Amino acid sequence: MEIDAAREVRTTCPYCGVGCGVLAKVAADGQVSVRGDPDHPANFGRLCSKGSALAETIDLDGRLLYPEIHGRRAGWDEALDLVASTFSQTIAEHGPDAVAFYVSGQLLTEDYYVANKLMKGFVGSANIDTNSRLCMASSVAGHRRAFGSDTVPGNYEDLELADLIVLVGSNLAWCHPVLYQRIAAAREKRPEMKIVLVDPRRTMTSDIADMHLAIAPDGDVALFTGLLAYLGQHNALDRAYITAHTTGFGQALFAASELDLAGIAAATGLSEDDLGRFYSLFAATSKTVTVYSQGVNQSSSGTDKVNAIINCHLATGRIGRPGAGPFSVTGQPNAMGGREVGGMANMLAAHMEIENPDHRDRVQRFWTAPAIAERPGLKAVEMFQAVADGRIKALWIMATNPVDSMPDADAVEAAIKACPFVVVSDVLARTDTIRHAHVRLPAAAWGEKEGTVTNSERRISRQRAFLDLPGEARPDWQIVAEVGKRMGFAEAFSYASPWEAFAEHAALSGFENDGARDFDIGAYAGTDADGYEELAPFQWPAPSPATPLWPAGHLPRKGGDRMSHRLSSIANSGERAGTPKLPISPLAGEMAGRPEGGVQAGHQPEERAQAASGSSSTRFFADGNFYTPDRKARFIAVRPAVETRTSPDYPLILNTGRIRDHWHTMTRTGKSPRLSQHIAEPFVEIHPADAQRFGIGDADIVRVSSPRGDVLVRALVTARQRRGSLFAPMHWTDQFSAKGRLDALTAPLTDPVSGQPALKHVAARIEKFAAKAFGFAVMRQRPEPDTATYWAAAKCKGGWRVELAFADDEIDWAGFAGSLFGARPGAEILAYHDRDAGQHRIAAFDGDHLSGALFVAPGPVAVSRGWAADQLNADHVDRRARLAIVAGRPGGVDVDRGAIVCSCFGVGANQIAQAVRSGCASVEAIGAALHAGTNCGSCRAEIRIIVAAQILQAAE
Ligand code: SF4
Repeated sequence: MEIDAAREVRTTCPYCGVGCGVLAKVAADGQVSVRGDPDHPANFGRLCSKGSALAETIDLDGRLLYPEIHGRRAGWDEALDLVASTFSQTIAEHGPDAVAFYVSGQLLTEDYYVANKLMKGFVGSANIDTNSRLCMASSVAGHRRAFGSDTVPGNYEDLELADLIVLVGSNLAWCHPVLYQRIAAAREKRPEMKIVLVDPRRTMTSDIADMHLAIAPDGDVALFTGLLAYLGQHNALDRAYITAHTTGFGQALFAASELDLAGIAAATGLSEDDLGRFYSLFAATSKTVTVYSQGVNQSSSGTDKVNAIINCHLATGRIGRPGAGPFSVTGQPNAMGGREVGGMANMLAAHMEIENPDHRDRVQRFWTAPAIAERPGLKAVEMFQAVADGRIKALWIMATNPVDSMPDADAVEAAIKACPFVVVSDVLARTDTIRHAHVRLPAAAWGEKEGTVTNSERRISRQRAFLDLPGEARPDWQIVAEVGKRMGFAEAFSYASPWEAFAEHAALSGFENDGARDFDIGAYAGTDADGYEELAPFQWPAPSPATPLWPAGHLPRKGGDRMSHRLSSIANSGERAGTPKLPISPLAGEMAGRPEGGVQAGHQPEERAQAASGSSSTRFFADGNFYTPDRKARFIAVRPAVETRTSPDYPLILNTGRIRDHWHTMTRTGKSPRLSQHIAEPFVEIHPADAQRFGIGDADIVRVSSPRGDVLVRALVTARQRRGSLFAPMHWTDQFSAKGRLDALTAPLTDPVSGQPALKHVAARIEKFAAKAFGFAVMRQRPEPDTATYWAAAKCKGGWRVELAFADDEIDWAGFAGSLFGARPGAEILAYHDRDAGQHRIAAFDGDHLSGALFVAPGPVAVSRGWAADQLNADHVDRRARLAIVAGRPGGVDVDRGAIVCSCFGVGANQIAQAVRSGCASVEAIGAALHAGTNCGSCRAEIRIIVAAQILQAAE
């Protein structure tokens, strides 16, 4: 395609489910810059640290640029023919369930739609599942049980309108930073707003919390059933709402009342006082939003947790109203889009049900498909077990890295290795998964592809290309369509452009949709190339004007505009429907630096839908009608069932999660020096009392083991961690560490309803790794430090930095340094060795520049990481500068920045602490002095904590 280099392209961030709008620009010299889109209703111009660094992640280093078969370059025709013929032959010999697609929330809706259509309508199997199964499947299951549909009722502005926000298992400050910033800004404006954090760890999100409930792992069902019982006991129920709009309340309350307060306290690990304070606050606050994400979903009781939360909102009628509702926020950029197209093994397209014969018939007729999947397919964990035992013989993995992200990851890797035919489409040539592929297909990356994504508030936005496709890379929808054609389905997969897939998807959503299905974007069924190019962000539903809004026999109870019964307007009044149009967010104008109401005008179909609703934003269930047969919501009777997974051999509970500046398996963020400097190696958080019990000191290298496997990571001793529990991030892979693949430890234990794995409750033990020597190195080339038992590599400006630890200290350090740096013949080598003390420092210079420096010590190396990495970009003409490196310390004026806190401006913890000692007493003052926290704002919570700690220290 022709890219106009002069204009800014309006697109969407490819990371989390907030779905921030991005403006990307390519300068005449090819340099790409990004900024937040001030007109996008998700972020109003803000981006977090990851979004701000997107331009650093789009180079072609490490890209897969050509198709490969068995490691040799191949042409597209040869590769596609092989994929199509092998899948067709496998189906012919072993049936449709012998093949599977494992796809991703990174795919765009159009990619997802085409892949799902091929598998469910043309292969005739439902063996397509997605890594979103690991992220939010329990929310989907909970929604469907309670509402009869997978519907997220509310909007982001509910977070700003609420008087109480309960954050459950959600470290918003790091995982959904722009939502966190919206809440923080709203709280600054309305200090009376209360925030409760429910999380076993005191995460950065606790920075804005009035109350932190450090709940026991998987104590959430007990917490919320206890809340339901409390609401019943304290006359805090909305009985009229319960009677008119729900069923099953009596059974749910009965189940919830089985534990008394002391029992709830025991099950949650919380004091009765804390429970009482939380329960009374919830009972007294009508405008309450409960936000939840992976801490709720990634559990063997995830679906029950979701329903326990929803029960409390139904019992108080706090749903479908401004500032009130349960709110699942998704991890991935297009987890919601995947749900909409039916990209999960237990769903059909357009939110239709695979178990419903009418739905199957409808989808089959719409697609004119030769077959339709008759039953749910294999969910992610089951799918890889079927690969392992040979039931699945041909597997196509698209845009994801299951060798690192699936539970029991070593077993998943072994299954993939043993699978007779594995296809991987990806953007990178080197991932832990693609190394096992028989066929590798180069896919288009962010910035190169066109499509749509849906964020956590049901808002569909365009991703647009601003870069040419490199090499022979192709968009995923096109790759899948080409395979579909070669499998004999040319007509059904004859898409020439992604807008054709989008328009078909929109048409299917409205097809024979008499208002009984929530997902309806029929207003966009007529989208053409121009309309697609101009498509502005819009929220669903957006039905065609011709679509009846309610099925016969299910007319709304109240009079007035039909659409207003289905969609609630945005209003501060608390009215349920028919309220006047207000700006999309009360803080919108302020956040964008513009007067209120300056929201981008909608595109034509959106205007139709929104005009009907009287709002530029939508909210479901305003009038109490749900998508069950009797239109009533279902209370689900849930009971706390906390399992003990620990044992004498594995006495600790490992909680897995994410950090601020990395995303998934680092395939993208690992390319950014800026993002890699915040936290540069895998780590495990442990409480000081547990550290003492297991003989572990801060910065020790430790082995964390479970019955499934083990990892080597750095110990971080912190009282923010709950006693008896560990926390470790899931990002590190074999590409960035020696043994950091955390999901080698997690078990394939899943929620019985949703199939989502329990990734946050793993029995584990920890022990110190008795390293004989430690090392730190910086170098220009990518390190391959196989001699080290432990290593963790991170990009830095001008090269790489690597942390090292060795089981043996009888090593030829000069030889090791030479292989690490790739020093050229003639390079100047400076070295310092104190063999008795176990200290070695070796630096190699190529002309005036440092090619690499290695520091070895018998304990953790005490050299400033920031200073050492900076040396890769400094001139070393002066011999004293060269000797300073071998001395291992900065010259007189250089200050050790310490661990980087502000990635945007490279400001470290030591600099912030120094600024506080010099009189800066607030985040704002630090910003004025050092700029830290003044760009994306993702580090403001950490800065606030450092400022508070320094002030406290000074006062002691
Ligand atoms: Fe991207 Fe950050 Fe926005 Fe998430 S919050 S969409 S990662 S910019």
